[in-house]
Amino acid sequence: MSKFWSPFVKSLVPYVPGEQPKLAKLVKLNTNENPYGPSPKALAAMQGELNDNLRLYPDPNGDLLKQAVAQYYGVQTAQVFLGNGSDEVLAHIFHGLFPDISYSFYPVYCGLYGIAFDAVPLDEHFQIRASDYAKPNGGIIFPNPNAPTGCVMALDAVEQILKASPDSVVVVDEAYIDFGGETAISLVDRYPNLLVTQTLSKSRSLAGLRVGLAVGHPDLIEALERIKNSFNSYPLDRLAIVGAAAAFEDREHFEKTCRLVIDSRERVVAQLQAKGFEVLPSAANFIFARHPQHDAAALAAKVREQGVIVRHFKQERIAQFLRISIGTPEQNQALIDALGEL
Ligand SMILES: *Cc1c(COP(=O)(O)O)cnc(C)c1O
Repeated sequence: MSKFWSPFVKSLVPYVPGEQPKLAKLVKLNTNENPYGPSPKALAAMQGELNDNLRLYPDPNGDLLKQAVAQYYGVQTAQVFLGNGSDEVLAHIFHGLFPDISYSFYPVYCGLYGIAFDAVPLDEHFQIRASDYAKPNGGIIFPNPNAPTGCVMALDAVEQILKASPDSVVVVDEAYIDFGGETAISLVDRYPNLLVTQTLSKSRSLAGLRVGLAVGHPDLIEALERIKNSFNSYPLDRLAIVGAAAAFEDREHFEKTCRLVIDSRERVVAQLQAKGFEVLPSAANFIFARHPQHDAAALAAKVREQGVIVRHFKQERIAQFLRISIGTPEQNQALIDALGEL
């Protein structure tokens, strides 16, 4: 550690992303990417933008993309905020209460911003219990569907959390919503304390482009714009703005590929259950599973030897689970074959 930085920098415990191996041959089922690739229309829009205009700064407000998002969700552009990945959107949001088993970036941001937090335990079935969030707090955040469990909450439970904390910002991180949940965007007009974040990394298969967004009351969005403009005026580059806008406009590709992922998920769940795995109900593009007779780390090592990577978290309560992203049917079969007889 360089002596030039403060003790605070030394104390930071960063987020550890899933492995991005240099070997192209591995079957990557470890970071919840989408196997089907982005909309051809998004690729064409980005190719069209590969020109001399790149010498110019992009639109700092990303209006073209805001309009595409607003149109898609039937909201005003003043209700839409954009960021360089939803991780950046989340970084601009204050938060304090979140589930104990959840996205591991939340405690990392709290460390960076010096925000105290309270990790609320999931119930014994690994579900978020809305009533547990009805207590004094400085803000609430949870993913829906949750990560890494994949479990989804019904919209009325989300509403219960909003009603119990009318004076706090409640952030619903909908990174996986398109694989089986119901978006809370329909509630933003009734709850001025609600912010819904989404990403193009998962259901729109553009993890490499780094585009995320938030939808909420114009006053919340205006505050986020002020924070963003105090940090980086141009979080989205020119390619990202046109590519993401085209991805929102191409509903056909989006709906088709989401359906393929959902169908594959149901097949993989059945195949794993046939092998004796317990699989949590998933509404995401990954599943969370444990085997009563086999150690999770040993299983992860076993499939890795055969070229398949899955994610294992060495965290209390979930150390015996594997998080497995849904791939193409061939990739999923490679996983099932690699597990072999158990
Ligand atoms: C993947 C993920 C994100 C981040 O998405 P990016 O837009 O790629 O930064 C946010 N929240 C959860 C729960 C995720 O799993």
